[in-house]
Amino acid sequence: RFEGITMAPPDPILGVSEAFRKDANEMKLNLGVGAYRTEELQPYVLNVVKKAENLMLERGENKEYLPIEGLAAFNKVTAELLFGADNPLIQQQRVATVQGLSGTGSLRLAAALIERYFPGAKVLISSPTWGNHKNIFNDAGVPWSEYRYYDPKTVGLDFDGMILDIKAAPEGSFILLHGCAHNPTGIDPTPEQWEKIADVIQQKNHIPFFDVAYQGFASGSLDADASSVRSFAARGLELLVAQSYSKNLGLYAERIGAINVVCSSSDAATRVKSQLKRLARPMYSNPPIHGAKIVANVVGDPSLFNEWKEEMQLMAGRIKSVRQILFDSLSAKDKSGKDWSFILKQIGMFSFTGLNKAQSDNMTNKWHVYMTKDGRISLAGLSAAKCEYLADSIIDSYHN
Ligand code: PMP
Repeated sequence: RFEGITMAPPDPILGVSEAFRKDANEMKLNLGVGAYRTEELQPYVLNVVKKAENLMLERGENKEYLPIEGLAAFNKVTAELLFGADNPLIQQQRVATVQGLSGTGSLRLAAALIERYFPGAKVLISSPTWGNHKNIFNDAGVPWSEYRYYDPKTVGLDFDGMILDIKAAPEGSFILLHGCAHNPTGIDPTPEQWEKIADVIQQKNHIPFFDVAYQGFASGSLDADASSVRSFAARGLELLVAQSYSKNLGLYAERIGAINVVCSSSDAATRVKSQLKRLARPMYSNPPIHGAKIVANVVGDPSLFNEWKEEMQLMAGRIKSVRQILFDSLSAKDKSGKDWSFILKQIGMFSFTGLNKAQSDNMTNKWHVYMTKDGRISLAGLSAAKCEYLADSIIDSYHN
C-alpha cells in the first residue's frame, strides 16, 4: 500500500543544508538557509531571549494549553510592533490577530481563510519569491500567478512590469508583497514606488497581503521596516499581514509568528478572528507557548525591548559589513570590468548574485559553497574571514 509512493524531491532550501552536512571539505560554506551566524559561523541565541527565558523559569510558568488564538499578551504586542502602538487601527480594534506557527504557519492560515471565504480568488506572488510561497498556496488549494518583479538586466526592480501585472489581475485579487528585504532578491520598492503600488491595488480593489519576515532585521529599525505596511494601512485599506520572529529574535525553532487581518470595523475583526480560530482548530488545535512568552516578555519590557533593538542592530550591522567586504573583494579581484555595485544596493540577509543554475552548481561542486540554485546567497551565514574565498568562487563561477 505504501509501496506505490514515490520519492519526494529534496526541498530547494532546506535540502541545501542536508547536502552541506554530508560534505567533509574544510573550506565548505553554507549560504543556503537564511539563518544568522556569528563571525565564528556559529548559531546565535540573543541575550534578551536568554533573559526572558530566565524570567519565565523564575516565575515557574506552566505549560497549559493556550487558547486557539494564542497568547493574548503576545497577540497584543505583535500587532503593536507591526502597526505602531498608537495606530488608530489598534485603538479601534480593527485588527484580528491570531498567533501562528511562525511566518509559514501564519501564511498557511491566511491561505486557508482565502480558500474558504474567497473561493476562486487568486493570489499574485512576485517572480521570483521565497520558494515556500508556491507550496503554501498549492497545498491550501488557492490559485496563484506571478507578477514581474526582478529585472536581470538591471539586477533591480522591474517596476513597470510589476504595476502592469497587478493592474491586469482580476479585480479583488490578493497581492502578496514582501514588507521589507525581499527574498530572494534583496530589492525593495522605494517609498514613492510603494505609494504607486498602493494606488493600483486600491484602484483594482485588490487586497494587499504582506509577508513580514524581517522586521527590524533588514535596516536595524523596527519602524523603518514596517513603513510599507503602515503606509498601506493608513489609506484605510483592508489587508493581511503575516509576521515571523524567526530572524529578528532568532527564534527559528520556536515557530512563533502571527497573522493580522485589518478589517473595516471592529465587528468584522471579531468575526474574522472567530473564523481563523475555526480553521486553526482542526489543523493544529492551538499554538506553542514558549516563543510567544519570550516575545511578550521582550517587547513588553522597556529595558529588554531596548536591548533587543541593540542586538538587532548588531546583527543587521554584521550582515551589512560582510556585504561591503564581499563587494570590495569582488571589485578588487575581478579583472573583467563587471559592475558589482548591485550587491550594495540589495538589503536584508540575502544577496541575489545573478549566478545561474550551472554557475551555482560550480560554486557547490568545485568550491564547496552551498547556496540555492536561483543564485541566492545568505550573507547571514558569511564571515568577514571567508569573504575573499567567496569572491574567488563567485568570479570563477561567473567567468567559466
Ligand atoms: N516569508 C519569507 C519571505 C521568508 O524569507 C521566511 C523565512 N525564510 C518566511 C516567510 C517564514 O519563515 P518562518 O516560518 O521560519 O517564520
